[in-house]
Amino acid sequence: MVRYNPDFPVSKPLQNEDTREFWSHLQETKKLHFQRCKHCQSYMHPPRPVCYKCHKFDMEWVPSSGKGTIYSYVVYHRSTFPRFEVPYEVILVELEEGVRIVSNMIDCDPDEIYIGMPVEVVVDQVSEEVALPKFKRRDT
Ligand code: ZN
Repeated sequence: MVRYNPDFPVSKPLQNEDTREFWSHLQETKKLHFQRCKHCQSYMHPPRPVCYKCHKFDMEWVPSSGKGTIYSYVVYHRSTFPRFEVPYEVILVELEEGVRIVSNMIDCDPDEIYIGMPVEVVVDQVSEEVALPKFKRRDT
């Protein structure tokens, strides 16, 4: 479970013209959205201008189920960024749509996490203008 040290500022996700909609959907709808190719229906993450599969530029943003499983994870015992208090985990979640996203858990300690653990997204509103996708345990 990631714990924030309030003595250090909230860092904002880097945004560019490809990723801006990912963050604005999260902030405005409080739901995770992914890009999907209108031509071949492939989901993509991180966002990009071109479909990795059919090379078309015709993409749309669609809501995710928010449900997935932990594909992999690491536990940090020395902080690389002072806002995160150690120990904390960084998880790689595979969503039902087949895309993977890097995040943290909000409701369990690092030693409770395992590969294949069912999780679902929660929106962590870390500041007025910054919402981050985090994950919690999910009953199967
Ligand atoms: Zn495609």
